Amino acid sequence: KLANETAKADLGRASWKLFHTIMSRFPDHPSPDERTALKSYIHLFVRLYPCGECAEHFRVIVEKFPPQTSSRSAAATWACHVHNEVNRSLGKAVFDCSKVGDFYDCGCAEDEGKEKA
Ligand code: FAD
Repeated sequence: KLANETAKADLGRASWKLFHTIMSRFPDHPSPDERTALKSYIHLFVRLYPCGECAEHFRVIVEKFPPQTSSRSAAATWACHVHNEVNRSLGKAVFDCSKVGDFYDCGCAEDEGKEKA
């Protein structure tokens, strides 16, 4: 039981990390194709998330708060909000979404031509 809970929490942390990092790298001005790609990613993430009860629970949240794909900041703020909905339901602290922009750094800023020291 405890091992299961630990595995579920590890999967959650890894999944949220990738989820938010993808949002943090989404274009500021996405093309229609890029917006479709993000919508598909979110849809399939919800559908294929390996913890079944988590996926079902998250599906209801995403149905209530439809994915926002108009810009990087819209996507990142949306993802922070739906993660906070999960946090609330699990009795966890709510994250300050005004800080989400700086928090997820993939170490790949040079891809955008912004060299980091
Ligand atoms: P996590 O919630 O995993 O967060 C990891 C880190 O992300 C935090 O330490 C913090 O630095 C940062 N963070 C926290 N909130 C936000 C936010 N709003 N925006 C951006 N960054 C943030 N577990 C269950 O027991 N039952 C469930 O039904 C369930 N459903 C889940 C559904 C999904 C889609 C996912 C991805 C996970 C789900 N989990 C569920 C797992 C759960 O959300 C946590 O990942 C797990 O409990 C570990 O929690 P944690 O306290 O380490 O932080």
